[in-house]
Amino acid sequence: MIQAPEGYKKKLTEFADSQDDKEVFISVEPCYGACDLRDRDAKQLGCDKLVHYGHNDFGVRPSIPVEYVILPVTADPIPVLTKNVGMLQGYQKIGIVSTVNFLSLIPEVKEFLAKNGKQGIVGEPANGKWGASAAGQILGCDVTAAQVIESEVDCFLYIGTGKFHPTGMKTKKPFFILDLERNSVERHDIDHEKLERQRYARIAIAKMSNKFGLLLSTKEGQFYLSVARRARDILKKNGKKAYILIADEFTPEKLMGVDVDCYVNCSCPRMSDDTQRFGKPVINAQDVEALENKVI
Ligand code: SF4
Repeated sequence: MIQAPEGYKKKLTEFADSQDDKEVFISVEPCYGACDLRDRDAKQLGCDKLVHYGHNDFGVRPSIPVEYVILPVTADPIPVLTKNVGMLQGYQKIGIVSTVNFLSLIPEVKEFLAKNGKQGIVGEPANGKWGASAAGQILGCDVTAAQVIESEVDCFLYIGTGKFHPTGMKTKKPFFILDLERNSVERHDIDHEKLERQRYARIAIAKMSNKFGLLLSTKEGQFYLSVARRARDILKKNGKKAYILIADEFTPEKLMGVDVDCYVNCSCPRMSDDTQRFGKPVINAQDVEALENKVI
């Protein structure tokens, strides 16, 4: 079986065509990370192997062998860096972070910085149970490769596209995005105070809620059952009603009609970024502790 995230879906039939002596099944389920392996589907079909495009190993223990296929970006970062190096003026030590398909560009970027009198610093992710596994790599839910070097750098440079990963950064250091799709370098200021205010607003609404739905995904790398149980028990101890809701992926349609006032995200931590679409407040499981500790 083969699976790929949205941007690489056109590779699926290409791959199947290249395997003419084998039977290939194509998974078209959405796939946001290697936290979401379709190995159980592949096993059900009797497959020998799952081929997972676009991500590296997240640490999930699959039920059949998995081959991770990285598709390194071949874009040349030097012309756009040369044009914009002035933006890095005044910063000597620069922390470099990226996502898996751009990691191969880090040595080139480091060399460019060195030629311009600067030092590029790359951190190792702090191998937790699940998360990033390569030097300099950040995920939406794991920015430890940045955190471990934060105290020694003057700013960060992210190599990649879009703002999903940079938005997960907790750093207060200046942050620049080298976007190789838009061929630009831009400063990305993260408004931490605004994010905290929004978080507290959600917690304040949750405090007034009585019935909580705890969102527990069955995706292997997002399956935090003990977290969901703990949050449920804390809520119950505090006189609330709490129910663990199960789905592979949560959508507003799936939750329609479920009689709760508020959701607690016990799955991908970034799901709470996009709470509007659920039509009810969504807090993270850690925020249940804040409710209990009455920190607001
Ligand atoms: S941010 Fe969410 S989707 Fe991405 S790797 Fe982490 S758990 Fe998976």
